[in-house]
Amino acid sequence: MLSEIPLQNLYNLLEPITVPRNSPGARFTNWGLSYTCLPAAIFEPENEFQCELVLELAKREGKTVRAVGVGHSPSDLACTKEYMIRMTKLNRVLEVNSEKRYIVAQGGITLDDLHAHLAKNNLAMSSVGSISEQTLAGVVATATHGSGINFCSMSSTAMALTLLLADGTRLTCSRSEHGDVFLATLCGLGTTGIILSAQLEVEPAFRLREVQRTLPFEEITDNLDDHVNRAEHVRFWWFPTKDRIRASYSNRTAEPKSPAGSWWWHTFLGHHVVQILLFIARYISNLNSWVANFACWLVSAETVGIDDSLKIFNVDCRYPQYTTEWAIPYENTRACLLEFREYLHKEYANPHGLRPHFPVEIRFTAEDDIWLSPSFGRKTCWIGIVQYKPFGLTVPYRKLFSAFERIVQRHSGRPHWAKAHPFTPAKLREVYPHFNDFQRVMKTVDPRGVWRNEYVERHLVGVDVADAEVGWENGVGMGGMKTEKHIGWRVHKARQ
Ligand SMILES: Cc1cc2nc3c(=O)[nH]c(=O)nc-3n(C[C@H](O)[C@H](O)[C@H](O)COP(=O)(O)OP(=O)(O)OC[C@H]3O[C@@H](n4cnc5c(N)ncnc54)[C@H](O)[C@@H]3O)c2cc1C
Repeated sequence: MLSEIPLQNLYNLLEPITVPRNSPGARFTNWGLSYTCLPAAIFEPENEFQCELVLELAKREGKTVRAVGVGHSPSDLACTKEYMIRMTKLNRVLEVNSEKRYIVAQGGITLDDLHAHLAKNNLAMSSVGSISEQTLAGVVATATHGSGINFCSMSSTAMALTLLLADGTRLTCSRSEHGDVFLATLCGLGTTGIILSAQLEVEPAFRLREVQRTLPFEEITDNLDDHVNRAEHVRFWWFPTKDRIRASYSNRTAEPKSPAGSWWWHTFLGHHVVQILLFIARYISNLNSWVANFACWLVSAETVGIDDSLKIFNVDCRYPQYTTEWAIPYENTRACLLEFREYLHKEYANPHGLRPHFPVEIRFTAEDDIWLSPSFGRKTCWIGIVQYKPFGLTVPYRKLFSAFERIVQRHSGRPHWAKAHPFTPAKLREVYPHFNDFQRVMKTVDPRGVWRNEYVERHLVGVDVADAEVGWENGVGMGGMKTEKHIGWRVHKARQ
């Protein structure tokens, strides 16, 4: 019985998996360099028993526990000032079934590693987002998505999950077993338990033939259905300063590999030179429009590339960035883009107006049945904007993001959960028919709120976390802690 382990022994057992307090790893910062926090302790378990030990300690010390992957969420979703449990060492593949086309893996495995195991078995995920650095549990918990109007988010490909619940028990759930916990946990933001492992539906490995071409804005928006259905996976990058859209159409193919692009063009010019230009534009904001035009020109030629699916799905997301992304009903796409375009053009016409970065990313997913999935019950268009941070430095973004959020909300937008947004439970209840069901399950499986953090309290529970010690990097409070209460400190003392 875990409850019978003396406290000192518990500290000793946890010491090897506790990130030393004085190491740089004791502070958590997300990939985008936009949020940071100093948890009371960070644990890196290597097995499931150690997860249970962390939970036991949290229970005794009245702490919450936040499970995290690699911290790629561009908000404070993963942040906590209490206990953080980094899952990346629970990264084993447990089963591969090529015949039935599924894989079972621990939640902390990165997609990159998962893809490698799948490839060895001649399998692949059906639709992948822009990168593959995230953990399996991280993408499942946030409805991470790729693009393709007949493809759901990656959470939808989960067939079953094994959870560590707040009471220390394990639960395996699927659509047929504990279906309500399952539907609450897919895109459940880590609030129902730790995802120890997931069974994922996959398909035989495939190549994609991607055609990219740049077209006038109206050509796409006036013929949206045609373009969106032209291929299995369609995505757009819109350059509003030039009113042109770079369109990508990808289909499965048996043709031999023939990658498009060159290091000089895409890496040297498209990545490094653009970063230097964006850096200069921090001081001369009008230059941003020129940089956007340059980036648009760089990708103006039609290209055809054939490669393994992953190499086509994943793209260069460039630099640390502020980002926001919203999911609107597919049928509102044109109206929403036109309204945002009008806003941007007014800004460009104003000598003191905003000069946002590029491009605006537009993607599509099929509807699903996951309670908190932004694609719940509707075919979805995702519109995402970024403001890059050249060399990690700050740039203005708040005014642009606020204006964008007002527009997408007028078109029934639901925010991407991993990205910062203003929605509170009252608003979420309006846009998610199962929000009450979600809250009921969350409170039933975790009555004490062990898995909550400030983000969860703010958006899903409704607690005003005015003193949250987590904030935008230039904001207040970066997580000052009472050091004598740190497990890291206690473990250190116990060792002396
Ligand atoms: C460069 C970049 C590109 C991106 N591209 C896309 C994209 O194309 N499409 C898209 O939809 N999103 C995209 N994202 C967002 C990203 O996919 C999500 O933020 C994802 O959750 C990150 O995974 P992670 O492992 O870093 O999880 P974290 O950010 O560490 O955590 C995310 C959430 O998952 C929960 N969680 C993590 N592990 C567990 C676990 N074992 N058990 C329970 N809960 C857990 C956390 O509690 C938290 O709520 C991108 C982000 C970046 C930085």
